[in-house]
Amino acid sequence: MTARIIDGNALSAKLRGELAAKAAELTAKGTQPCLAVILVGGDSASAVYVRNKVAGCEKAGIKSLKFEYPQDAAPADVLGKIAELNADPSVHGILVQLPLPKHFDEKAVLEAISVEKDVDGFHAENVGRLSQGQEAFIPCTPNGVMEMLKSIETPLRGAEAVVIGRSNIVGKPMAMLLTAAGATVTVCHSGTRDLNFHTRRADILVAAIGKPKFVTGDMVRPGAVVIDVGINRLPDGKLCGDVDFDSAKDVAGAITPVPGGVGPMTITMLLANTVESASRAARKA
Ligand code: NDP
Repeated sequence: MTARIIDGNALSAKLRGELAAKAAELTAKGTQPCLAVILVGGDSASAVYVRNKVAGCEKAGIKSLKFEYPQDAAPADVLGKIAELNADPSVHGILVQLPLPKHFDEKAVLEAISVEKDVDGFHAENVGRLSQGQEAFIPCTPNGVMEMLKSIETPLRGAEAVVIGRSNIVGKPMAMLLTAAGATVTVCHSGTRDLNFHTRRADILVAAIGKPKFVTGDMVRPGAVVIDVGINRLPDGKLCGDVDFDSAKDVAGAITPVPGGVGPMTITMLLANTVESASRAARKA
């Protein structure tokens, strides 16, 4: 069997077209959605992510503001900028690209962003709201995964879902979303005793580990939906996921590629959260 490929680029193009239409409508009524992005330091991967986010905004008719700080920037300067952007009614989303340099208190920076503008969904209040099923900004990567599952009509209620990884930005919110959708969720991590036991019974397997080609075909249940969140750079410069695509595709029922899978969907959901924030602001006004 060769798995169906879940094409993140094609799904993103469709959703971004819809978002561009919404952004144009809001702009025509006087509220152009606007995302402010803060980048601290010279991490080259972060710079690429920020460039892609800014380009995604521009294509969708969303205004973007970019603020760059050097690696040795004073945290107070960045916090001051966040306070300024929080108070600016023309800004609807604020994103601080992670990771921050070591001398920053990442948690304090994320908590400084107004909950109403936290389009990454990393603020503790948004995380709490999400866990309680209240209206919240949902972190973009797991939200993008949910859209991908929806796009192929994956049955979620009663499904066995296994998430490898328990980070705040991917694994944990992913587990919360799948649980809310009715799946029975197992979260695996580096301390999991028999990982293969869990992965082999998953109807839906999400890999968010950060280790190239870690999940091999023999770890996949035949017919499972395999979602590869990982983005790893190989020594030859090529990108690969946390799943060994070549062996897994022969076993899975559906699978996401890397690149062209979850990555573009993450940016799409960021644009969606920014447009949603702008439309909330417009409603309030
Ligand atoms: P983290 O490093 O924060 O988390 C990795 C998780 O994997 C941890 O929970 C860790 O367990 C677990 N893990 C590590 N080794 C093993 C192992 N041998 N067996 C089982 N679990 C293991 O990574 P992120 O969640 O931030 O990112 C994961 C991947 O997703 C990365 O490749 C990253 O680049 C990518 N990513 C992609 C995005 C996209 O847009 N497509 C967005 C964000 C991330 P423990 O907690 O015990 O340490």
